[in-house]
Amino acid sequence: MSAKKTALVISAHAADFVWRCGGAIALHASMGYKVTVACLSFGERGESAKLWKQPGMTLDVVKKARRTEAEKAAEALGVHDLVCLDLGDYPLELSRDDKNRLVDVIRKVQPSFMLSHSQYDPYNTDHMYATQVALECRMIAQAWGHNPGEKVLGAPQLYLFEPHQTEQMSWKPDTFLDITPVWEKKRAAIECMEGQEHLWEYYTRVAINRANHFKRNSGGQSGGRDCKYAEGFQSIFPRTVDEL
Ligand SMILES: [Zn+2]
Repeated sequence: MSAKKTALVISAHAADFVWRCGGAIALHASMGYKVTVACLSFGERGESAKLWKQPGMTLDVVKKARRTEAEKAAEALGVHDLVCLDLGDYPLELSRDDKNRLVDVIRKVQPSFMLSHSQYDPYNTDHMYATQVALECRMIAQAWGHNPGEKVLGAPQLYLFEPHQTEQMSWKPDTFLDITPVWEKKRAAIECMEGQEHLWEYYTRVAINRANHFKRNSGGQSGGRDCKYAEGFQSIFPRTVDEL
């Protein structure tokens, strides 16, 4: 664990961090965490259909619009640093140099925990590729022989945030986070994603449904805590504890 309160989100496309862990970002920002979001691409080809349907649209215009949306959403959530690596999407592919740039980001942030996509996503291979890259770069950041002299990474948990088409993704949450106190911030960030208005209500319903799981797993009818909005996560690594 880092002494500083820091977190790092690795998002394949510019909007993913908003739908899937915007509440976690806003909540931890409100607790004093410096949350960095690394967007590997803007989702300019694959997640910008509404923009491409406008006549005369160009790649540069789409990228600029998506960057602006992501910046507005990041501000609404209290993101400390939005890093746009602009590596292209559909497909997302990272060279060794690109991966080393991401390792540099991880080492600079020294996150207490990390967030990325589900490990399996047959609808969107960019998403599962981003998680594979996140794991690879986390591993390299831990290696004493990589750029010797730099501060190596500890062992931050990697939480996988909830994918789209949840049941098809082999994603099984083991952690529910109550985001009720920051829901208005997440909803404001969601509404910055003007190109994907069709998802606004869907992700509001997801948060309401996950709140039910929070309540059930915090004690249910015999003392469970009330919760109106929540996010679910699947963790990759075991926890080390002194008491159960
Ligand atoms: Zn995406």
